[in-house]
Amino acid sequence: MNQNYQHFKTRLLPNGVLLIGFDTKDKKVNVLNTETVGELTSVVNSALEDTKVKGVVLASLKQGCFIAGADISEIAAMTDKEVCKALVMKVHNLFLKMEESPKAFVAAIEGVCLGGGFELALACDWRVASDNPKTSLALPEVKLGIIPGFGGTQRLPRLVGLPAALEAITSGKTFYAVPALKRGMLDDVVSHIKFEKTIDALDKEPFIQQAVKRALSGKRNFALQKFPLMTKILGMPIVRDYVTLKKARQMIMKQTKGNYPAPLAAVDAVERGLELQGKGLRPYVEAELPILLDLVVSPLSKDLIGIFFSTERAKSREIGPPMPVDRKQTLGVLGAGLMGSQIAGVLVDKGFDVKMKDVKPEFLCPGMDRIFKMELKDLKKKIIKKPELEQRLLRIEPVTNWDGFDRIQYVIESILEDLAVKQQALAEWEAIAPKDAIFASNTSSFPLSKIAEKAKNKERVVGMHFFNPVRQMQLVEIIKAEATSDETVLKAYNLAKSLGKIPIVVKECPGFVVNRILARYLAESILLLAEGISVEDIDRAAKKFGMAIDSGHAMGPLELCDYIGIKTAVLVLNSLKALGERVEGHPLVTEMLPKDKKPLTFWSEGKGNPAVYEILKSKYGWQPKTLSQEEITKRLMLPMADEALRCLQEGVVEKPWQINLAMMYGAGFPAFRAGLLNWLARRGLEKTRQDLEEMSVKYGKRFAPCSFYKEAEQVLEKLM
Ligand code: NAD
Repeated sequence: MNQNYQHFKTRLLPNGVLLIGFDTKDKKVNVLNTETVGELTSVVNSALEDTKVKGVVLASLKQGCFIAGADISEIAAMTDKEVCKALVMKVHNLFLKMEESPKAFVAAIEGVCLGGGFELALACDWRVASDNPKTSLALPEVKLGIIPGFGGTQRLPRLVGLPAALEAITSGKTFYAVPALKRGMLDDVVSHIKFEKTIDALDKEPFIQQAVKRALSGKRNFALQKFPLMTKILGMPIVRDYVTLKKARQMIMKQTKGNYPAPLAAVDAVERGLELQGKGLRPYVEAELPILLDLVVSPLSKDLIGIFFSTERAKSREIGPPMPVDRKQTLGVLGAGLMGSQIAGVLVDKGFDVKMKDVKPEFLCPGMDRIFKMELKDLKKKIIKKPELEQRLLRIEPVTNWDGFDRIQYVIESILEDLAVKQQALAEWEAIAPKDAIFASNTSSFPLSKIAEKAKNKERVVGMHFFNPVRQMQLVEIIKAEATSDETVLKAYNLAKSLGKIPIVVKECPGFVVNRILARYLAESILLLAEGISVEDIDRAAKKFGMAIDSGHAMGPLELCDYIGIKTAVLVLNSLKALGERVEGHPLVTEMLPKDKKPLTFWSEGKGNPAVYEILKSKYGWQPKTLSQEEITKRLMLPMADEALRCLQEGVVEKPWQINLAMMYGAGFPAFRAGLLNWLARRGLEKTRQDLEEMSVKYGKRFAPCSFYKEAEQVLEKLM
């Protein structure tokens, strides 16, 4: 066999199994693009022609990655359907050749197996995986506004049955090795033993040895495929049309409100493929391709791919000399409450040891319990095994004193929101901390400089503002006060990166970026309510706009206040007093916090809370009123856009994309609107400025636009 490949290495084992090791040149991960697909086609052709080859095992020579999918930069550049079709047809021809050859093909999967990579595995006869915790399978194409286009919408239903396939294809959800095995996506899962990834060492790995056995066992016979009874019933023609596919579409509409066409298009592709079965046509081409081509060139897909790239850039961006954080060290967390315990949990997930300090053992116990429940979720999802769960929990040391903190380089402060208590903790820490250590505060509402007011080494104090729930929320605002040193910022930034978060550096200002912009939306929603608009109408307009839709639970501003708690919302609004009337809000919120009683919520039993209306009527002469959905939306969204421009004007962040990501990942601004500033630029800066001028006359000076609109034209031009 020709050994001179750029991206592949091959080795023929004495038993006739050809090992193909994928190793995309000059990339950290394996990708399928014109070049690698072309070369793989040559490798496969040679294997098929070579009579010594009895079967083929396709594996990766990269640690932690089988195949990351199709090369997204290639998809991003595709504006011509014919260009896209040419690449897709090359892939189809290759996959069909593998499928139709008499030799068995096996995908030996370790690490991420995404999109096109998973589709390649689906075109193999067998899929054998190692139980490396990084092994995960997904078809995330819908998140980029397209559908799996290398046969995934056709081969997955055949393999796992219709309901499980629809779930995977329309949600883009990740499946770890054991759940994937249970669903039939994998044939075997074998214990992971780490070896170096070279073509010569590959067959020492137990999962490769199992893959070799499968390759020698011959082709898969789909006629012998067995499904559970329920899967069979849900796949029967009538049930499938009237129940399974219908339900899938209803579920998608419920979640996306029709704003993301790709998941629905994926259902169409699956359905069309089923209709073509037995008609002598190739459903990969006939059913899937036309739908894929329409989506690939759509503006929405380009926007979603743009967001994907911004996110990846933000995750890997360096803001100074690369400084990886050593995971073999103990970090400190102060406060074992809601946030502190979750932060400690995320730290141990990533391999750090943690000392979690609170004032009393009785405050540490609920914190430990919260972490235990977080880890239990991973155990239930089979992401980790019991020994790993135990290891993680044992790596957290709950403490009530400062012993050992004199050797800790990073302390994350997540103590209750009381300035004096935070200052006191900082002073106590400074007295014993090593000289290079940093103190990262998770405060939501205090200026960092205030917390560090009395500190001896203000340059070591930085903000690391996490969001709740800490595991799921990817954003961390890194707050730089005037006195914070660049080195401290760099350390906090790299720590956030090592947790897999998206760190955005923010110059200290009231509310930082997310809460500052979001506060205008929340404050306006309460004013709308006080003016007479119902809770339902306000939240409906925001949901229609798409707020929080990407979390799977669209939510309006008043429901969001209920979620974060009116107490916290008031705390945040109060901390923004420096912004003046822009976030003044309405005194109703303090009335909703009766002394010694449970705080009120805006929603109660699925409707606006009568108790809140009662307060409004009795104290503020409230009368119900209606306003068009368009006007409500303008009143909620334009202040946010204006505040985002003010942040840019003041240099709170360096670049507009940082605001876009911060609002998407921290405040639920919908991805289909391409980011808050893109949305504003597309709406028109001058039009928005004029609208705000008019609104400031009609509703109050809080709407008066900032003075940055003209300049912003040039700044935002590059975003479009
Ligand atoms: P919480 O009330 O749940 O927990 C605070 C914990 O701090 C309590 O367990 C308390 O006993 C402990 N504590 C008090 N004094 C202490 C001391 N001297 N040393 C160590 N621990 C001490 O509060 P939380 O919601 O976890 O918030 C903690 C911090 O995180 C606050 O600064 C808050 O602004 C910030 N924050 C909260 C959220 C949120 O959604 N709750 C989001 C982002 C940031």
